[in-house]
Amino acid sequence: MKLQAYVRKGSFYEAVVEDGSDIIFIVDFEGTIRYHNTAVFQTLGYRPKSLNGRNFFDYILPETVEELKRQFKKSQQRAYTQNIEFQFLCKDYSYRFLEFNAINLKHKEGLDGFILDCRDIAQRKENEAELVRLQKAKEQFLANISHEIRTPLNGIAGMAGLLSQSPSPEERETYLNAIKHSAENLKLIINDILDLAAIESGKLTFEKIAFNLKDFLPSLISTFMYQAREKKISLDYTIDENLNKILVGDPVRLNQILINLISNAVKFTHSGSIKVFCTAEREVKGICWVRIEVTDSGVGIPEDKLNTIFESFSQADASVTRKYGGSGLGLTIVKQLVELQKGRITVTSKVNEGSSFIVLVPYGVGKKGAMANTSPKNDQALKAVNASQLVVLLVEDNDINRLYAKSILKNWQCYTDTAENGLVAIEKIKNQAYDVVLMDIQMPVMDGYETTKAIRLMDAPMCDVPVIALTANATKADVEKCMAAGMNDYLPKPFTPDDLYRKLFIDQKISPKQKVKSKSPVVIPANQLYNLDYLRSVSGNNEEFIREMVMTFMQTIPPVLAEMKQALMDSDWPKLARQAHQIKPSFTLMGLTELRSSILFIEENSKASTKLDEIPEAVSNFIIQCEAVIPELSKEVMPGAA
Ligand code: ADP
Repeated sequence: MKLQAYVRKGSFYEAVVEDGSDIIFIVDFEGTIRYHNTAVFQTLGYRPKSLNGRNFFDYILPETVEELKRQFKKSQQRAYTQNIEFQFLCKDYSYRFLEFNAINLKHKEGLDGFILDCRDIAQRKENEAELVRLQKAKEQFLANISHEIRTPLNGIAGMAGLLSQSPSPEERETYLNAIKHSAENLKLIINDILDLAAIESGKLTFEKIAFNLKDFLPSLISTFMYQAREKKISLDYTIDENLNKILVGDPVRLNQILINLISNAVKFTHSGSIKVFCTAEREVKGICWVRIEVTDSGVGIPEDKLNTIFESFSQADASVTRKYGGSGLGLTIVKQLVELQKGRITVTSKVNEGSSFIVLVPYGVGKKGAMANTSPKNDQALKAVNASQLVVLLVEDNDINRLYAKSILKNWQCYTDTAENGLVAIEKIKNQAYDVVLMDIQMPVMDGYETTKAIRLMDAPMCDVPVIALTANATKADVEKCMAAGMNDYLPKPFTPDDLYRKLFIDQKISPKQKVKSKSPVVIPANQLYNLDYLRSVSGNNEEFIREMVMTFMQTIPPVLAEMKQALMDSDWPKLARQAHQIKPSFTLMGLTELRSSILFIEENSKASTKLDEIPEAVSNFIIQCEAVIPELSKEVMPGAA
């Protein structure tokens, strides 16, 4: 056979093909292997010469043979063909991904054959498959996450809609509870996303605080008791006596790990029990290895999913989302939290029998008395604080956030003044002494940092007012920036009324010292609110005309006021804006200058959905004043009337 000529000892081809790490086959156009080099042994397991005379296509993954034959045919027309992928049967019966470039010997040497210069692309293929899998998992995650976010959001929007339709007290209670529950869910999922983002960007830091597991595990377990009881499953915990010691580390992160593992156990268990067992596995040189085991008798996890459940965005099964909800982020966060603390997490599980997650984390061992009192203060302690009469300046550009904080403060009988940006806040602080300033960070015109710096440069006593940041960005760097700007403390958003209470009255011990400067609006007597000069001048003092105009005003305004009241109750801002717009011109005609600015304020802000927290008060004042002015006007045009 002529082909052997190319691989004769000492020939050019022999040197090239034998020395190279690439796998070389020389095959004829029918696929008969005429030669292969020793690299074939390393990659595919065949000894030198053992494939000579065999047909190349007999070793190709059967379902791809036809396609490869087509490629061979095409290659016969060309001198050189590149990057043809195929899978070749190895000696151990597995298939390996290879790729060849074919040199057509017909073109060069007049022979019916190819030199196939092959590269092992198994790793590349694996990477590609992994990439596709990750991409799919990410898409699945995005679908899950938007579903997870949308569900509570829809709940909140729907319930708020129902609340505005004058529900009965019981319905109101149900809707409010549903809103609270949905908001809580939303907060959890957003916190998960933020945590993961912080972990992935390497921004997560761990505290070194003294704590005793005994102080927080019981209350943590009790938060799951209700759910467990509902599902008729038992939930027990044991803390080994050897763990009754002061540990030094990050209790908040440990709490987070436990919450994730226990909530999964509760979620995926429908009968039987959940057990949490904590022990000190070993203690060496002041380091205590804490072992926490969360075991359940739940649905279990298929063996092939035991590794992937720890990956971002991954759930054991797509049907899990439909059945149990969840983002597939919990275990990823747990694993990262454990490993960032130099610990380990393992899982064993059997489908339909249950799962056991074991966490092992090293903590420092602290001395007795090293512990700060971290136990949560109880409500009784909170109630003992007197919040009323506190003069608060709330600096916040977002209407909803302003309304939320203002409503909480109002419940505590605090006097709250608001400013929609830092510049307005500074002006207010110049004119009124405040007990505390609650300061949003990101605001137009002047942000929270700049505002606080400016306050600290003011004269005493204004410069000493306590400033607490209300911030959605609560990373360590953000907090440091707040402190550097001169703030006293910070409260991450979203916060509960309890969080705000704790911050103001327990942590910062703010107490009412300031007196509110008389802010009560100057009450103009109703008979001085209007001025009919305009009507007089345009009508040439035509009494009849004036009387008719005033009568029309008196008849048309009350039904519109009723509509405005209703729109306010329904929080139907566009309707309120339309009503205000409709009656606005008559206030100019009647010379009702004060009321005209009120109706203008109501119209503009309802239309733009701004200052929504100030509108209710503005509307009710407006209505009261209108109702007072109408009898006065009537006296004007019908002097005999009462
Ligand atoms: P999520 O619970 O939000 O889906 P996790 O990351 O906490 O996300 O869990 C990932 C997956 O691991 C779950 O979807 C579930 O399939 C599986 N899993 C976790 N814990 C358990 C458990 N205790 N029992 C059965 N399956 C579990």
